[in-house]
Amino acid sequence: MLHRTPFFLPMLYPSLTWRVEGARKELYLTFDDGPVPGPTEFVLETLAAYQAKATFFCIGDNVRKHPDIFRRIAAQGHVTANHTFNHMNGWKNNATDYKQNVQRCQEEMTLQAKPAHSVASRPLFRPPYGRITRNQILALQDFNIIMWDVLSVDYAKSLARERCLRNTVKATRAGSIIVFHDSLKAEKNMTYALPRLLDHFSALDFQFKTLA
Ligand SMILES: [Zn+2]
Repeated sequence: MLHRTPFFLPMLYPSLTWRVEGARKELYLTFDDGPVPGPTEFVLETLAAYQAKATFFCIGDNVRKHPDIFRRIAAQGHVTANHTFNHMNGWKNNATDYKQNVQRCQEEMTLQAKPAHSVASRPLFRPPYGRITRNQILALQDFNIIMWDVLSVDYAKSLARERCLRNTVKATRAGSIIVFHDSLKAEKNMTYALPRLLDHFSALDFQFKTLA
């Protein structure tokens, strides 16, 4: 199971963000596919216990269904970001439909946000499955497209939770953008690996920051 992004991908797509260069003892946790009652609340409580901040790539339809949890993410000092309205696969849709789905998510987030909700000057976007075409990248120039350096693979149910933790810790380095999922599918591995990863890197004096 591949946990570290292969070195050539950032070279092929240099306009996307894969890792925070020059970061010292800083890590960037990201959570995809929420907000979902249960997993998202677990993440918020766990992050608070370690005074860690993170970035949440939300599915627009989940924001519509769970606006209270969505608002709680921002209220606790985390950043909310765009992950399309329906978890759209970029390789199966054209740039026009894709952009429309991203905009729909952005509108839903704006609608549900409270005025105090911090909105990034250049909103953040992460393509579901990491699948995005060059035309879609061009269509989304208003967004800062965030990929990742470390994938926890927490959604793989066949992956033992101890292994999920070990591989994720091993792949992490200063400036890493780490992907977890606040989804039901990932719950078994994420709820095990997240607090232990926070514990491990907090003891080494790392800080956990938002991407915007
Ligand atoms: Zn996703």
